[in-house]
Amino acid sequence: MKKSIYGLTRDQLIEWLLENGQKKFRAEQVWDWLYIKRVQSFSDMKNVSKDCIQLLEDNFVIQTLKESVKQESEDGTIKFLFEMEDGNLIETVLMRFKYGLSVCVTTQVGCNIGCSFCASGLLKKNRDLDAGEIVGQIMKVQEHLDNMQKDERVSHIVVMGIGEPFDNYKNLMNFLRVVNDQKGLAIGARHITVSTSGLAKKIVDFANENIQVNLAVSLHAPNDELRTKIMVINKAFPIEKVMEAIDYYLETTNRRITFEYILLKDVNDHVEEAQQLARLLENKRHLSYVNLIPYNPVDEHSQYQRSSQESIDAFFQALKKKGINCGVRLEQGTDIDAACGQLRSKQIKKEKVSK
Ligand code: SAH
Ligand code: SF4
Repeated sequence: MKKSIYGLTRDQLIEWLLENGQKKFRAEQVWDWLYIKRVQSFSDMKNVSKDCIQLLEDNFVIQTLKESVKQESEDGTIKFLFEMEDGNLIETVLMRFKYGLSVCVTTQVGCNIGCSFCASGLLKKNRDLDAGEIVGQIMKVQEHLDNMQKDERVSHIVVMGIGEPFDNYKNLMNFLRVVNDQKGLAIGARHITVSTSGLAKKIVDFANENIQVNLAVSLHAPNDELRTKIMVINKAFPIEKVMEAIDYYLETTNRRITFEYILLKDVNDHVEEAQQLARLLENKRHLSYVNLIPYNPVDEHSQYQRSSQESIDAFFQALKKKGINCGVRLEQGTDIDAACGQLRSKQIKKEKVSK
């Protein structure tokens, strides 16, 4: 099966075309047709020579994703289900904020980290997405916006869909370099956030990449006992290891870091846990932001419920009192299976029932 050309960075495209007897300026033209004019077929690249078009057609396709379902929420959130060439389904969400349009992308089919509260982890990882399939999600959403003719563009990206991005590191990095490219989509690195469950070694690698992309770490508990209960990955990368990697990240990049903390009723939402969290982050208080996430109930994980508004407020206040920067995540698209992985798992269940 031919791969999507979206998987190549501009440098890789230049190199590939040079190796195949083309000139560098051709690569620049092709890049422009892909990301500025956003054509769907190589033959639409009007100033590109016939032999170059033939070469591209023989080796690549442009888009490999097909829209399978599109759900639009009252608040403007749109959830897409895309079908890949092998029939696997992935989820992508477009959210509207005051500051711009943000897209949440998927990096794997399922996830092997298996966090106990998460819908994506219910479906074991089937495979990694290649870089072209991750970029393809942004291009599909941009195509939808282009068709609306309101001159809107994707301005922000969160890598928080299905999958653990650092378990698909190389493709993730290619994706980031493509969408960030100044001569292409030019989505600012500071407008992109990658979320990880805390693969410490990869946090160190990411710190060394010299890219200004934001990092968010899913912490969800302030001590190992509790964290292991809700995230089994904590056995492999306990809090101390994650924090060491984060300290390295902070020193190396001079950037801030976001901690994600899902509030699970009576599990990790007591004021004591907020205080413990504040102590854990004390030495990096000025470089940290804690994002409190109201839990989105998942049918299969009925042991977890969303914290009450009072508990959320009390947790937030306890952190504030200790000088921790924090906020409660705004929810979007609650009427359309908002939690990551929910639309896909529902669709798969439906398919199983109908078979
Ligand atoms: N695998 C990465 C990125 C994808 S998950 C990670 O775990 O960080 C993105 C975020 O959504 C994580 O913080 C995850 O903990 C959170 N999440 C997963 N299931 C959720 C649910 N049902 N309700 C609210 N947040 C959820
Ligand atoms: Fe995987 Fe993230 Fe879900 Fe955990 S929360 S199972 S790491 S997608």
